[in-house]
Amino acid sequence: MVPNSLAVAREKKWKNLIAGTKSCVLSSRFTKSACFSLGALVCQTILMLTDNKKPALCISIHDVAPTTWPECSRLLSLLDSYENIRSTLLVVPDYHHHGRIDSDPKFIDALENRLSHGDEIALHGYYHLDESPRSCNPIDWIQRRMFTQSEGEFAAISITEGLTRLQRGVDLMAHLGWPLKGFVAPAWLMGKSAQQVLKQFDFDYTTTMNGIFRLPDWQFTWSPALTYSIRSPSRRTMSLLLNQTRLILFRNAPLLRLCLHPVDCHFDDVMIQWRNFIETAMETHVPMTKAEWVLSQSKI
Ligand SMILES: [Zn+2]
Repeated sequence: MVPNSLAVAREKKWKNLIAGTKSCVLSSRFTKSACFSLGALVCQTILMLTDNKKPALCISIHDVAPTTWPECSRLLSLLDSYENIRSTLLVVPDYHHHGRIDSDPKFIDALENRLSHGDEIALHGYYHLDESPRSCNPIDWIQRRMFTQSEGEFAAISITEGLTRLQRGVDLMAHLGWPLKGFVAPAWLMGKSAQQVLKQFDFDYTTTMNGIFRLPDWQFTWSPALTYSIRSPSRRTMSLLLNQTRLILFRNAPLLRLCLHPVDCHFDDVMIQWRNFIETAMETHVPMTKAEWVLSQSKI
């Protein structure tokens, strides 16, 4: 479990160059992408020269819940058209208060089929809604209300409420008998209180827009995440262009993440681009779940 000194030094270098906790929390799909790209490209080149491991590809489906399952199934059909893809399913226990996952036997059966297929289940908030009090800080307001449409449940959550929701989620997964290694905050927004709460649980990792933290030591590995923002035609067009550029820039990243959302399946151009990205990435990267990637790092 103890990484060698070279790996530790490399991780520290990445952390200094790319991401601190604060910058991760403040990042968003658009505002920070351009700022990180140049530095990340330099870091990617450095890491490529010093890392002999074959690059990894982690594909995840966000917002998995009974109400989104028809759309998630369409995304999984895409992934299942390739032989060796195992994905990480980010499950929300009670998505938007529409009902707990354990009240839907068909959904439970479907998820258990995915587990037997080799997919991983990770905890993705509890309600996936930011119901915390409004912030007076304009940056927080823009981040929480404008960019993420009040989906960042753990952006400003209190310690008490965070503890309650995380414990409920963990207990629910345990009750269902589903192995749980990772927690991903909705909209990748995790405030200081949420970080304190997370330290009290036995997760192996958590992720942000810019990378993965291996727990409990919070060892950060930078990793580009391709995802779409498609709330308006203009944003979707921008996402298509931005993602194409990011894939060209980061094609050789040691860890590349493709982050699919249920709504993606409603847009043919997005689905076509996802298929292209998957095929391009699989030429150079080995697909694996996030839990598998974390485990592989502990063996270095
Ligand atoms: Zn989400």
